Amino acid sequence: SKKLSINHTKSQPSFSFEFFPPKTAQGVQNLYDRMDRMHDLGPAFIDITWGAGGRHSQLTCEMVDAAQSRYGLETCMHLTCTDMEKEKLDSALELAYKSGCTNILALRGDPPRDKDKWEAKSHEFRYALDLVKYIRKNYADHFDIGVAGYSEGCEDGTEPELLMGHLKQKIDAGGTFIVTQMFYDVDIFLDWVSKCRAHGITVPIIPGIMPISTYASFERRVNWTKCHVPDGWYDKLDPVKNDDAAVRDIGKDLLVEMCKKLLDAGILHLHFYTMNLAQATQRILDDLRLSPEESGTPLEKPLPWRQSLGKN
Ligand code: FAD
Repeated sequence: SKKLSINHTKSQPSFSFEFFPPKTAQGVQNLYDRMDRMHDLGPAFIDITWGAGGRHSQLTCEMVDAAQSRYGLETCMHLTCTDMEKEKLDSALELAYKSGCTNILALRGDPPRDKDKWEAKSHEFRYALDLVKYIRKNYADHFDIGVAGYSEGCEDGTEPELLMGHLKQKIDAGGTFIVTQMFYDVDIFLDWVSKCRAHGITVPIIPGIMPISTYASFERRVNWTKCHVPDGWYDKLDPVKNDDAAVRDIGKDLLVEMCKKLLDAGILHLHFYTMNLAQATQRILDDLRLSPEESGTPLEKPLPWRQSLGKN
């Protein structure tokens, strides 16, 4: 299988795209067309997210299968474990296996919106850690297993030290890479990466990058994740907040600077939360000269998965 083989010696930057299952059949078709076009940008892989509670689980599995077999995209399927029946989880793993997908992002899942108090559906699965163990037990080394990381803390408000310990547990149980929650402050991220390394976490850490498409969505996501916005960003964005085109232009420049800083620090794989849209991500890649037209380098096809995640 084309497993993501982390090459610690290559120094070529690479990137990946995250998509979520659309609500309508038309939306699905549009996304397939977009995935087809975005294939040409040369992502090392794409992610398909898992609807909380297993909503759209069938569609997630179908999209993983289509991405793998129809569009030749190396795919990572997200899977949550605490908020739905075990049968759904088992069948998703089975379908992923049959589609030739070899990468799962193993997650806990969010508590249902209508409940304040967190209640896991089964005692077997309380944390993402349990899913990592379960996949390793049932599928040995077939899957590479990614886990979520939080450079600025998670919603539960867990103490940073404890959160780091839990991250280490997920890696010790078989996690092979980390994808982070979105953030904008590279200094905080780099500091957190150093702390991970000091805790003996040696797997690749992939930064989650959310392009800015409108001021409202930027503000909403920042409030929701409570991530720190670097000095000067609001000074640039606030004056144009009602001008979507200007927000997109300035947002693009800010994100390009952010990505350059990551690449300069040796973080060689960038993961884009595309929100199912191509343009914002493509413009960033163009400016970074990472898209094929800009870099002028012909793409190797089929794309080697995990071609160059770098040593960070
Ligand atoms: P865990 O690692 O299980 O951690 C959850 C909490 O439990 C933390 O506070 C942790 O410190 C604590 N904890 C862990 N282990 C222990 C232990 N042994 N004892 C005590 N406490 C412990 N959600 C979806 O529904 N679908 C998706 O596709 C999806 N994709 C995501 C992708 C990324 C990159 C990220 C960052 C999040 C994603 N989420 C997704 C959201 C995720 O499901 C939620 O953030 C969820 O609340 C936590 O998931 P986790 O895997 O980080 O949980």
